[in-house]
Amino acid sequence: MGKGMTNIGIIGLGLIGGSLGLDLRSQGLNVLGVSRNPRTCEIALQQGVVDHASIHLEILTEAEIIFICTPIDKIISTVERLSSELNLDATTIITDVGSVKASIVEQCSQLWSNFVGGHPMAGTAEQGIEAAQRGLFVNRPYVLTPRETTPQESITRVEKIVQSLGSVVYLLSPQEHDQGVAWISHLPVMVSASLIDACMQENEPKIRELAQKLASSGFRDTSRVGGGNPELGVMMAQYNTKALLRSLTQYSQSLNQVINLIENENWEQLENFLQNTQEARGKFCS
Ligand code: NAP
Repeated sequence: MGKGMTNIGIIGLGLIGGSLGLDLRSQGLNVLGVSRNPRTCEIALQQGVVDHASIHLEILTEAEIIFICTPIDKIISTVERLSSELNLDATTIITDVGSVKASIVEQCSQLWSNFVGGHPMAGTAEQGIEAAQRGLFVNRPYVLTPRETTPQESITRVEKIVQSLGSVVYLLSPQEHDQGVAWISHLPVMVSASLIDACMQENEPKIRELAQKLASSGFRDTSRVGGGNPELGVMMAQYNTKALLRSLTQYSQSLNQVINLIENENWEQLENFLQNTQEARGKFCS
């Protein structure tokens, strides 16, 4: 299977795994996909996401690099299975795409010394194989979180593949990654979900329905990440609890500041506040 070609394995053929498969195949790499579900394997083959698909990990025996693209809470157990059930060559690189890194990298590196933690900063509100799309990672940051003991040639190999997707590589410690994404990924999910929840608390049905009909681009933008995959949101909180709570606490202080300014009709300071945020936004979204 794919002798002489570079064999890349992908476990978990959903939004991220499927999108990776599409882009890696288009570069001529031989992509071997594993899903729990035979139907997903069929769809993946039909959509050109993989060259070969199976519900069995054994298909990955000859893979040189394996991307684990399962939900966060299945990453460690998948590495455990790969290292104990398959007779993988010690040079095989295992990498993951999980949205949290410290706990995953810590445990996976113990199970497989050639493990390189990763997180593509790209996504949509959709999930599953049908959501897979070409070019999802182009111009997006892709964080790699090696440890001191991670072999340099493995880091370089994953870095090259990630660059070939059009991504911009960041090499960070797992802890730096988790603190950074708490602000710009995990906090926004909780804030956006709270926004939707607050609107649903309007107890006058007529007004609530009216708001739903009038909602336009502003609400679409601000509610998008709060309307995403609930399991992923829970796992962000479970696996990045400390950093997320720190960000949420600061957020609630900022919100209280706004409430105070409005209660006190302090329009001048409110304008200063909004001028500062208008200016600061460009530092996050250029
Ligand atoms: P997804 O679309 O739901 O895909 C995950 C896939 O994993 C599913 O399609 C499922 O395929 C498979 N899977 C589910 N449970 C499994 C299990 N117990 N064992 C093995 N496979 C299982 O989710 P996703 O958005 O691609 O997220 C996958 C990973 O990417 C997560 O770790 C997430 O943190 C990370 N990530 C997500 C985003 C984002 O914006 N969505 C961005 C960056 C990173 P089958 O049912 O066919 O097995």
